[in-house]
Amino acid sequence: MDTIVAVATPPGRSAIGVIRLSGPRSVEIVRRLIRDEEFTPEPNRVVLKRIMAWNSEEILDYALVSFFARPHSFTGEDMVEISCHGSPVILRRLLDLIQNFDARLAGPGEFTMRACKNGKMNLSQAEAIRDLINAQTNAAAQQATRQLKGELSSALQPCKQELIRVIVRLESALEFVEDDLPEVQLAETKDQLTGVLGLVKDLALTYATGHLLREGLKVALVGRPNVGKSSVFNRLLRSDRAIVTEVPGTTRDSLTERISLQGIPVSLTDTAGIRKAGDRIEEIGVERTHRAMADADLLLVVIDGSTEILGEDVAVLSQARQLAHVVVVNKCDLPQVRLDEELSKHKMVHISALTGQGLDHLSTAILEPFGSVDSETAGLLVTDSRHYDLLRRAQSSLEESMELLDQSASEELVLVGLHNALKFLGEITGETTAEDILTKIFSTFCIGK
Ligand code: GDP
Repeated sequence: MDTIVAVATPPGRSAIGVIRLSGPRSVEIVRRLIRDEEFTPEPNRVVLKRIMAWNSEEILDYALVSFFARPHSFTGEDMVEISCHGSPVILRRLLDLIQNFDARLAGPGEFTMRACKNGKMNLSQAEAIRDLINAQTNAAAQQATRQLKGELSSALQPCKQELIRVIVRLESALEFVEDDLPEVQLAETKDQLTGVLGLVKDLALTYATGHLLREGLKVALVGRPNVGKSSVFNRLLRSDRAIVTEVPGTTRDSLTERISLQGIPVSLTDTAGIRKAGDRIEEIGVERTHRAMADADLLLVVIDGSTEILGEDVAVLSQARQLAHVVVVNKCDLPQVRLDEELSKHKMVHISALTGQGLDHLSTAILEPFGSVDSETAGLLVTDSRHYDLLRRAQSSLEESMELLDQSASEELVLVGLHNALKFLGEITGETTAEDILTKIFSTFCIGK
């Protein structure tokens, strides 16, 4: 195995920059960097060392060096972390130097891949590390941590074990029994498979929320000028990000910010009010509004509840009609006019951006069409499309096998779907290969031949 190296901290200037090494030559490379052939680092201890340039007496930096001895390191190999000053110049020079000392630049995720290969974690845990780093909200980070702890593999374990029990029974029936499975065993098998199918389906169902938690939603505020779009935007953001004035047409360009609604990351866009453009700048603003509308998962059509509905409101509403939208009747702190019958056909929320009244209802109304339960209190969620796809494939394989069982098809045929289902579930954690399954099967029942 070769030794890999990478800068573990983000590009740019920072207080500290960390260079990470993993592989058998890690310590030897440090010895060369600090010009001390005798250096024998103690595992899990940090020491301050002077890093020297190549072939000169120039001191590159003073850095903290930590050593993690195999197999008790993240990758399971010998690892060294060099925490130097976070200057891009120093980091670049160090990286070049280390590569000259026979280490290779690591590919994306290669440290985690090595951890996986060395049995330090399974595939879904490795994916959880990626998700944790990419998490956009606290709830998304919490889900990634749950997966990192191995909760997904633990949730799948009973399914896999039950499935193996059924496979073992059917395989042994193939070997030993001339006739079909006895009635009692058949009923038990069906019960077991129904149980497994239920678990797989339940887990797959959590993807609607899980996916939302990971990918988030794009929501755009639209409406004619002065209805209070920027005020709603600021309210949801809990900051005075957009300029609010009583002068119509203040927001001339779209403004996008990220917020968290019940743990779901939402990219919220405040658009320029839609009206007949007065000048070229406003024209471009309105064009951008149309683009934001087309791009959004949900539109919040803001109207002013304290004034009559104008032609401009009707125009926006008719544009939004074909798209997922909620009508936000703003300024409910003021005396309200009677709303048109037509409007009641739309999903509506009454709020006041000024007082904050109805804001909770608005958050719920935004998330509702996407089937979200409160992601902050939800149990384990499937967030990864790969996992979801494998669960769905396992589900349809199981359903096929159960149908064949109902039709009294041969065990051989039923087994095809069951083996597939087990393979798909195993692929989620990257554990099961056909060979593993065979070993498992033959170790649980002594076939004796
Ligand atoms: P936009 O042009 O649609 O973005 O509207 P703004 O957010 O700039 O608001 C236009 C005017 O309406 C400003 O004077 C706001 O202070 C006022 N406004 C916004 N929301 C409310 C509200 O809920 N109640 C009241 N009374 N006034 C509001």
